[in-house]
Amino acid sequence: MAKLSAIRGFHDSTGDILERIERVEAVARKTLEFACYEPIRLPIVEHSEVFLRGVGHSSDIVQKEMYTFEDASGRSLTLRPEGTAGFIRAYLEHGLYKERPVCKYCYSGPMFRHERPQKGRLRQFHQVGAEAMGVSDPCLDAELITLADRTLRSLGLGEFEIHLNSIGCEACREPFKQDLVAFLQKNCTMLCEDCRQRIVLNPLRVFDCKVCKEAIEKAPVMLEHLCQECLEHFQAVKACLSAFGVDVNINPRIVRGLDYYNRTTFEIYPEEGGAQSVLVAGGRYDGLVETMGGPPTAGIGFALGVERVAERLQQKEKKPDLGVEKPSLAVIALGEQEKPALCRVLTKLWDAGTSAMPVWGPQGLKAKLRFVDKRGFRYALFPSDAGRMILKDMQAGSQSEGPSAETGWIMAHIHTL
Ligand SMILES: [Zn+2]
Ligand SMILES: [Zn+2]
Repeated sequence: MAKLSAIRGFHDSTGDILERIERVEAVARKTLEFACYEPIRLPIVEHSEVFLRGVGHSSDIVQKEMYTFEDASGRSLTLRPEGTAGFIRAYLEHGLYKERPVCKYCYSGPMFRHERPQKGRLRQFHQVGAEAMGVSDPCLDAELITLADRTLRSLGLGEFEIHLNSIGCEACREPFKQDLVAFLQKNCTMLCEDCRQRIVLNPLRVFDCKVCKEAIEKAPVMLEHLCQECLEHFQAVKACLSAFGVDVNINPRIVRGLDYYNRTTFEIYPEEGGAQSVLVAGGRYDGLVETMGGPPTAGIGFALGVERVAERLQQKEKKPDLGVEKPSLAVIALGEQEKPALCRVLTKLWDAGTSAMPVWGPQGLKAKLRFVDKRGFRYALFPSDAGRMILKDMQAGSQSEGPSAETGWIMAHIHTL
């Protein structure tokens, strides 16, 4: 029989790696919920149409990276490649835009993209997302960036850079696009195959290209073509960030090349490692709700890449400090007849809030003790209904005895040591 294995790009996580991943999720969620973002849980699978409309036909995600399949009744479904489109679907479906025109939500969970697996790119990865609806105030843009900054700092990461840009609005982007297209056509021979297609499909996306960096060095940038309102919005975002005490770099190459994105875009990178390892990316999407069938509604959000951030933590943190030892107690039956006593004492310990691991199996006492020791457990308890129970401290090599009917002495013992 062929050996069963996980799909490439889909990982199992345990131990230190999982601990860091869960810590990143927990800290990001706590930071957002502390700032009054309400939690929302969204489906992992949606009708494909949600992403075709909500992410955009011309995006790389929709063109090449979606896990799309037909279910038994022939509907086209897609594993969510990102969180915002599904969120907006829910926002519209439940009429939140009427009921609560101004609202903020946060969520976390797995996303799926069919990319070539490589370092830093998983096919199932996890994000924490924040979305704020109904407010176009530039202070909200600054608030979101500040919350991303606070999340990373609370995790103990300090070496990152926030890159900020504005991609304007429909009014100022159209004339700019013409300028950009003219430049790209003139320099067409220097562009990669993908970017040549982007000239027609989505010219702004050339700024995302890793290959064409030099070729577009002298290309016009949106930041220099903003209309008065967009310029004022951008300046207010910067002023508000400075009041929040958050430093940013202005980077005219941060784009979200879809028409319903507008004004503020931002990305956060590690200081070294650059744009390939984006930790957080976000932006304003005032046109998205309309694109998905709702009324014109301001919106802005970000997504934090959980594995990316967890990996930075790993590079920064040494082995976790085991200085503070938690009490670890294994409970071993000496023979068949002690098993009921083991069940009874275990229940008492768990009821009293003491963590304990029963050790079952036909192995002899020595083998069981070796196993427990290898797992890093310090204490082994041998229950008995008759007479006294024995508690062995494997580190100190000592042992104590107590009455079988009580467990208080066990707790007292392992907690006072
Ligand atoms: Zn504008
Ligand atoms: Zn290119």
